[in-house]
Amino acid sequence: MDWSLVDVDRLARLACPSCQRGLAGGLMRQVEWTTRRCIVVVACPNCNAESMVVLETSGTRRTAPPIDVDDVRRAHEALARAGRMSDLFPA
Ligand SMILES: [Zn+2]
Repeated sequence: MDWSLVDVDRLARLACPSCQRGLAGGLMRQVEWTTRRCIVVVACPNCNAESMVVLETSGTRRTAPPIDVDDVRRAHEALARAGRMSDLFPA
């Protein structure tokens, strides 16, 4: 279960059907996981009522991909062109 693939921010926009307060921060339990969506049961952080929520999954991590050899090579080329490190960054 990789929560970084799931649109958990959506929970912040959803209200508990029992107490009408936000579900953000509620404990989530996975029910079903597909390539497009994730169905979870969320326990309301306020009243503990459980709601079933469908969240979109991106299929790819929202964090940056790992640096590979080509990235390192491009960085070296950029440094060679710039000459000075300070030239890489706007003043
Ligand atoms: Zn509630």
